[in-house]
Amino acid sequence: MTNLQQFFIVPFSRNIDYAACIHRKDLTVLFIPSSKIPTREEDCAQLFLKWDNLIKDRQNGQIKAKNKKTFTIYLVLSEQCNLKCIYCDILGKIDQRKNRSHMTWDIVKASMDIMHSRLIADTEVYAQIVFFGGEPLLNWPILVQTCEYLATQGMNNRIEKMLITNGTLINQEISLFLQKHKVYVVVSLDGRKSVNDSVRYKFNGKGSFDSATQGIKYLIDAIPNKFGISCTLGSHNVLSLSEEIIFLHEQFHPRSIGINIYHYQQDGKSPIQINDEILCQALLNVFKTTREKGIAIYQFLSVLKAFTNRQRNSDYCAACADKLLFTPQGRVGRCDALMFDERFSVSLQDFVSHSMPNNLDWSKFTPEHEQYCLNCAARWICPGGCVYDQLVRTGSLCGVETRRCNFYIRLLNEMLELVLEATLTTEQVTDILIPSQNHFNNVIGNIPLDFLTYIT
Ligand code: SF4
Ligand code: SF4
Repeated sequence: MTNLQQFFIVPFSRNIDYAACIHRKDLTVLFIPSSKIPTREEDCAQLFLKWDNLIKDRQNGQIKAKNKKTFTIYLVLSEQCNLKCIYCDILGKIDQRKNRSHMTWDIVKASMDIMHSRLIADTEVYAQIVFFGGEPLLNWPILVQTCEYLATQGMNNRIEKMLITNGTLINQEISLFLQKHKVYVVVSLDGRKSVNDSVRYKFNGKGSFDSATQGIKYLIDAIPNKFGISCTLGSHNVLSLSEEIIFLHEQFHPRSIGINIYHYQQDGKSPIQINDEILCQALLNVFKTTREKGIAIYQFLSVLKAFTNRQRNSDYCAACADKLLFTPQGRVGRCDALMFDERFSVSLQDFVSHSMPNNLDWSKFTPEHEQYCLNCAARWICPGGCVYDQLVRTGSLCGVETRRCNFYIRLLNEMLELVLEATLTTEQVTDILIPSQNHFNNVIGNIPLDFLTYIT
């Protein structure tokens, strides 16, 4: 990749005769023969100036979507879990059945008061409440009380509710309640039974697949196609990732599947650690598969929207945007993986009486501010990395993660190649190729893009 001050030049690996030239300011794109890549700033600027009208004409069909302002609240309803997944970065290897508490109503109520104040102060803000754990369904009465309380407060049209669960405790009563209160459910499942059960199991060593899929069956009855599956990517499923995703899609028809790259544990290692190149290749293969088969991958949504609309992706980790996490001990922090680390949280009383301390303002750790990202073409589509992973790997909150960078840089390259290939099929081949909005849209393939509108 060659970088000029105002432009990025991206060479291709498949279509080696061409390179993409991207204007940094408005992310407009030209394709130029690789033998004629301008090396001087002014020559490149001249090129864009010359074709300015045609570029505007062809690339202005996009919808410049206004980013929704979302205030995210994580309620750690329980620190206990009924599973003992090998890679859990939150509860680690501690015996999760002992000395672990459930959240009480006074903490939930305090968090709801904070949320309501925000919604009243800014009428453009939406709130997203995430019921989290441990396993949040171990504290079912408080989840019920929270939903019933919210139903009496009259702002439900600006509040989305989400439950992140291992699925093993879902029954008919629970699924019908979640349906009634429009709670979007995300169940963790890493693929087919043998793959899932090699890393996600109970304290007696029995895999979670059968219980989790039984729970999903109740969801299929109550809220068909209105729930998600979250698949953690690691050594157990990386070599068959596309097959696992196809299986989850065809078997359960979730609205979307999230692929979460494994987090490191506190020692900076992970039992499901994989080589960066293998990880990157698996994700690129999934991108190809899901384009063909029309499978909605949660993490691709913001990437595709940013790319086709030629806007920067600002779908950063919520902890770097606007997220508060409340623990059963009454601590307030940003990041779930650091919920037990008192350096990264304050007491509820301190939070209410003072503003959040500077070390908990993580807004500076996004590609928008990271020094390393400013000269990276993939900043167009990249939502940035994970501050927690960065911390446990390097001891510093700032910086970038090679494993994520590799993927976003190669994904941008792949998407530009797809635009070029679409342009070459419809345009007369000349020195300068100017893709149209339709050529950009072609990158979406069969992936449904409306899958996040889950509030019915
Ligand atoms: S790919 Fe890496 S360097 Fe580029 S914007 Fe993303 S985090 Fe930054
Ligand atoms: S910093 Fe990482 S672990 Fe923490 S909330 Fe963000 S993505 Fe999750």
